[in-house]
Amino acid sequence: MTAIIDTQLPDGLLDSGGCGLMNEEVLRLRTLDRYQVLDSQPEPQFNRIVTLAKRALRVPIALISLVDEERQWFKARDGLNVEETPRSLAFCDHAIRRRGVMVVEDARLDVRFRDNPLVTGEPGIRFYAGAPLITRDGQALGTVCVIDRVSRSFDDDDRETLTDLAAIVMDELELRLANRELAVLAQTDSLTGSLNRRTFFSLSEREIGRRRRTGCDIAVLVLDIDHFKKINDTYGHSAGDRVLAQFADQIGQTIRVQDVFARLGGEEFGLILPDASLNQAVETGERLRRIVEQTPIHTDAGPIKITVSMGAAMVKPGEGSVEPALQRADQALYRAKHCGRNRVVAA
Ligand code: GH3
Ligand code: MG
Ligand code: MG
Repeated sequence: MTAIIDTQLPDGLLDSGGCGLMNEEVLRLRTLDRYQVLDSQPEPQFNRIVTLAKRALRVPIALISLVDEERQWFKARDGLNVEETPRSLAFCDHAIRRRGVMVVEDARLDVRFRDNPLVTGEPGIRFYAGAPLITRDGQALGTVCVIDRVSRSFDDDDRETLTDLAAIVMDELELRLANRELAVLAQTDSLTGSLNRRTFFSLSEREIGRRRRTGCDIAVLVLDIDHFKKINDTYGHSAGDRVLAQFADQIGQTIRVQDVFARLGGEEFGLILPDASLNQAVETGERLRRIVEQTPIHTDAGPIKITVSMGAAMVKPGEGSVEPALQRADQALYRAKHCGRNRVVAA
């Protein structure tokens, strides 16, 4: 039944769950998203490729097209003055369903395209050849394609040239993705996936810089899991690791997008709250403290209940770094530990 539904539904996201085509398309769009290339600025590396395609294949139009949910968007174009077209008109939407080059020698003679407004009107496409941009995991994101306003043929050498140009585009996209993923790795703590200490300090500098312009408050919380050593001793180090990861997850899910949460070391975490007063920071801390207290962590050693103590402090006007506030928050944390743990103390 799903096969019949699939073929009758239009391209793009289909809304009935569980059919193969939909899942494939969702996966493809998700992959396209990961490359973060849609609506990006023009870049010389890609512009050069379309200019080269145009010259090498002696055509008036060459494009790097990415097929989005409802449109094709051009990362680079030479000879065409539009940034995108509806997906329903895109030759490239047909080309991405193939592994090799798709050639349309004369669009007027092709039932798929002869009534297409891009054929009957501007830019008057007659000839089209597109090589799919295929990712390492086999998803086709779009094409490198060449277009002519007269019909023509395309020989094996031409196909090979276009295929190579598509491979160069993909190399470039993969490189950018790898660089971005490395940058993310360099910012995160490998055990908990939260930001690391270094990133905490660099983001705190950014917040303090922003405050110079806007004059807003910045509050800091230091969080330290109570009796964590006992958890390691009782349940083992790997259960301890799991506790750290889950704890970080819980907090990460609860805070606002603008808050900066990082593992400062061991079982100690820092939270920067932009635009928060000391009272608000204590309230936030209380809320987090209760969630941690009420949510047992599931480990191979069984559910483990933990509590957390916190110190809160403000970055004072004129302070150019988060360090002094962090020290005051640490002293407050020390008092929280001293007064029986599982509590939030303001500096
Ligand atoms: P307090 O309530 O006073 O904070 O007591 P505590 O036991 O939590 O504090 P203490 O500083 O005595 O112990 C922290 C422990 O955290 C000691 C260290 O072995 C453990 N620890 C630090 N990093 C990790 C880690 O990555 N994984 C695990 N499993 N344990 C860690
Ligand atoms: Mg501790
Ligand atoms: Mg500690």
